[in-house]
Amino acid sequence: MHIRVSDVKKWVGRQEAKHFCEEWPELVQERSPYPMRGAAEMDVTVRNVGRALIVELEGLGHVEAVCSRCLETFDLVVPFSAAEEFREEPGASDPNEDFFRFQGDKVFLDEVVADVFGASIPYAPVCGDECQGLCPVCGKNLNAETCHCETSTDNRWTVLSQLEFPDDPSSS
Ligand SMILES: [Zn+2]
Ligand SMILES: [Zn+2]
Repeated sequence: MHIRVSDVKKWVGRQEAKHFCEEWPELVQERSPYPMRGAAEMDVTVRNVGRALIVELEGLGHVEAVCSRCLETFDLVVPFSAAEEFREEPGASDPNEDFFRFQGDKVFLDEVVADVFGASIPYAPVCGDECQGLCPVCGKNLNAETCHCETSTDNRWTVLSQLEFPDDPSSS
């Protein structure tokens, strides 16, 4: 996944845009906790600011996520966006630097997309706000079935009320 920059490089202020609709790079799949679905849809703008090229990207991806409440798989739409600086310098990009390196007429985007996409996936996705989850007693999926388990003896609050907090050191 790359964008050609041979023209953008010619003078400061020049900008180009490209729409991507293609296969996800392998690196994105490697860093995603869930299987990717469908193609990568993404708009990329590259701008010459003199010392570097600024690449802005915005896209949508679909993954086959697992709901953290009911454990069913569902199609999760993941919007992502990033703005990164690319400098034309020899050598590989260094994760400790706040810019990426490129050489020649192509800027490769796999690394940026993999980073930002991975970071945009929610830690505990839910299939919908209304998801009822699983019964904590019998494990039935409460979206599809009902059960008659005794869940009114919810002891979470009892546990909370028994917690003892140490004195706040900042107040002494
Ligand atoms: Zn769910
Ligand atoms: Zn139950």
